[in-house]
Amino acid sequence: MGTIRQDLLKLLKEETLDAKDISQLLSIREKEVYGHLGHIARSIAAEGGRLIINPCKCLACGYLFKERKRFSRPGKCPKCRETRIRPPTYHIR
Ligand SMILES: [Zn+2]
Repeated sequence: MGTIRQDLLKLLKEETLDAKDISQLLSIREKEVYGHLGHIARSIAAEGGRLIINPCKCLACGYLFKERKRFSRPGKCPKCRETRIRPPTYHIR
């Protein structure tokens, strides 16, 4: 598990990625990505780093899911009920 998190750290320092990108790049399931992200967010905070989460956005009306604290993608937009939602993307700085 240690190496996956190290790889994920390295990736997110270089690029802004969503969970699907990460799962493909590291050959792990999307569900596992969220667990690693949670762990990384805590460990880099201890070192003064920060995991930036760009919120999900509704592609139909532009609604931003700013209040959402979970890592995963919401099912539909609370404003227009559309399901075409851009997933959150992650970056470390
Ligand atoms: Zn919407």
